[in-house]
Amino acid sequence: MQPRTHTPDRTTVDADGREATTFALKRACNGCGLELGDLDGRDVDAHGNTADVRGECSNCAPLVELETAGCRTWQLTRRNIAEIDDAVDRDGIYAKGYWQDVDGKLTVVGLRIGTGETRIVARFGDWIIRHPDGRWSVHKAPASGGPVDPETFLTGE
Ligand SMILES: [Zn+2]
Repeated sequence: MQPRTHTPDRTTVDADGREATTFALKRACNGCGLELGDLDGRDVDAHGNTADVRGECSNCAPLVELETAGCRTWQLTRRNIAEIDDAVDRDGIYAKGYWQDVDGKLTVVGLRIGTGETRIVARFGDWIIRHPDGRWSVHKAPASGGPVDPETFLTGE
């Protein structure tokens, strides 16, 4: 696939001193919000739906590979934490909300999967992966999250 173009914004000033900015629409990763470059023909599929472009994203491409290898993936949000908790439970693994002090208030900030030394913690915005062999792992959201902070975005705060 052709690499995307990255057209910078261009500001011009006309004879009367009026500024005009010309810009190309940009595509952000549908997995994490990272800006990928200019919007182009690959962003809409044959049915008019926005295409999945996570394979182009340095953060999300490993997830796409895992999905191709038969893994099930979820991006953890406040809305789906119960669904994922149930899926982990069905594997006979203990899972519960991960609590942390946020501004002096004990708050659920993610999901803890397993117990003791082998437990893993996913925070809201991270991806949780169930491997075909029954292992569970976490793919961290990028530290700076691109232009959209997944947690803020998904909770509407
Ligand atoms: Zn991404």
